[in-house]
Amino acid sequence: MANQKIPEEAIRKLDSLFESYCIVAEDIHVFLCDMRYDYSRWSKELVETFGLPSEYMYNAGYIWEQHIHPEDRQAYRDGVDAIFSGKQAGHDMQYRAMRPDGETVLCTCRGIVITDEFGTPEYFGGAIRNHNQRSHIDTLTGLRNQYGFFADLQEYIRNKKEVRIGMAGIGKLTEINEVYGYKVGNKILQYFGRYLMDHVTNRGGTYRMDGACFAIMSTGQTVEQLAELYEEIRAHFRKGIKVDDLELAVELNAGLLPLEDFDVDDQTVYSCLNFAYEESKIKKHGDLVIFQNGQRGDSRRELEKLHVIRAAISKNYKGFYLLYQPVVDAETEKLIGAEALLRFKNDKYGVVPPDVFIPFLETDPLFPELGEWILKTAMRDAKKLIEYVPGFVINVNLSYSQMERADFTEVVWNAIRKAGFSPEHLCLEITERCRLLDMDLLRNVMVSLRAEGVRIALDDFGTGYSAVGLIKNLPFDTIKIDRSFVREIEEDEKERRMVNNFADLAGTFGADVCVEGIETQGMREILKDYGIHSLQGYYYSRPVPIGELLEMAKSGTDCLIK
Ligand code: C2E
Ligand code: MG
Ligand code: MG
Repeated sequence: MANQKIPEEAIRKLDSLFESYCIVAEDIHVFLCDMRYDYSRWSKELVETFGLPSEYMYNAGYIWEQHIHPEDRQAYRDGVDAIFSGKQAGHDMQYRAMRPDGETVLCTCRGIVITDEFGTPEYFGGAIRNHNQRSHIDTLTGLRNQYGFFADLQEYIRNKKEVRIGMAGIGKLTEINEVYGYKVGNKILQYFGRYLMDHVTNRGGTYRMDGACFAIMSTGQTVEQLAELYEEIRAHFRKGIKVDDLELAVELNAGLLPLEDFDVDDQTVYSCLNFAYEESKIKKHGDLVIFQNGQRGDSRRELEKLHVIRAAISKNYKGFYLLYQPVVDAETEKLIGAEALLRFKNDKYGVVPPDVFIPFLETDPLFPELGEWILKTAMRDAKKLIEYVPGFVINVNLSYSQMERADFTEVVWNAIRKAGFSPEHLCLEITERCRLLDMDLLRNVMVSLRAEGVRIALDDFGTGYSAVGLIKNLPFDTIKIDRSFVREIEEDEKERRMVNNFADLAGTFGADVCVEGIETQGMREILKDYGIHSLQGYYYSRPVPIGELLEMAKSGTDCLIK
């Protein structure tokens, strides 16, 4: 069909109709054709998903036909012909459409013909639902869900549009569910969603995220204004809300991240937002935590750095390497093991210590992959050490998010087997953050690993809240006392007593004790009499590359003390 050129005013009308349809078409993709010119506008998502030439197209029916599975084409062509020839006033069909990457997706296409006052067909409009695409709406609250959040976030990043992203959530929803039942929990979520929407309108988009969390994205409000808004919302919920006959005071937590740098991906942004939220929940009793509370330039650079580090995981771990810090026997001061410590290095950022990126990335879905690489690399290196120090134990740090995975023990076990490593030479260190996990799950993981000979240590003992509860309930082989407890041990009698008590306590539960952060001969002398099994610290050695550690192992202990 040769098309007559469409005039500008007809395009304007097409656009305004199209845009009004789009507003009501959440999750489905709109197309609209001015039949007089066979000129159409199709939704951007369809154009992008299926690789169509443009949002505006002459002969869109024919173009679209080329994207339909060959077996379904005839039926589609018949349907479109019937519409354009006036035999039918609409269609409702399913067919398979093909994406440029070759994947076939099932679509439902519904459309109707709109006629003018004389009954002449004017527009053919409708919507295509891509069944492979996940819904962007949360059924409980009616808000956009996590998929909607990511779709919008990607859009902000693509368009380099500054936006402030907040995440707020209900503390203790699990307990509320347990005490009052799920229905009450759900009503609170609905109330919260509704309340947010009412109070955020015009200030940004509102989203229901995982579990008890909600997010907002705002382009118009400053960080300070959003912080104020959070305090208002928090005060409202703290005062108590009415759900059925109940009056419940609800505590909230929240994190905020200003997005000003666009050399990042959505997952890095989400990981950092999540981190800010977790900090609010775990350490700040619900006070708003702003990602990189520092200078304006800082959060931009931090985010970009984290993005680069995260991306390196998918680029064959380029830039990651391990250093090893010796662990010595407390009595003989001979090398008995080492702790593997992760570093990242590239030209732009130099050497980046783990504290800078691990806390942000440990909830990232990519992190367990990095964890596996650390484990494999550490065992490969440790095998060389065992030749010189037969009882050598390599300590590998774990993040709680690795242990959360259903296949965690299998991953460890496969890595051990593939490395041809004896499990008794491996000690996995977990921190008190593991209390974020389900205790039964954690115990099962520990019991099954220990049954195979792997040791488990509790790292940074004393820095968290429920350390004593943890060592009472979980079977640790070693307790590592955090260096903050020994820093002043030479001057401070109280600190000495505390470390002594910790050592006794660990002994009561059958665990060995390792003290970290030994920096001086004086510290070591004091600790000699406390029934401690091993020591670690700069006094013996800083973390070193594997080559240096091997040299130490070959030449005995003398070179350990520098
Ligand atoms: P950590 O496991 O408690 O590791 C000990 C940290 O204390 C290391 O810092 C080490 O360099 C430092 N250190 C050791 N002796 C002394 C001393 O005498 N004085 C002082 N001031 N510091 C000492 P690093 O390597 O920066 O690691 C920091 C934390 O990052 C680690 O604490 C651990 O929680 C985490 N981390 C490191 N590597 C990994 C890893 O491969 N996986 C995971 N999940 N976390 C890791
Ligand atoms: Mg450690
Ligand atoms: Mg430690």
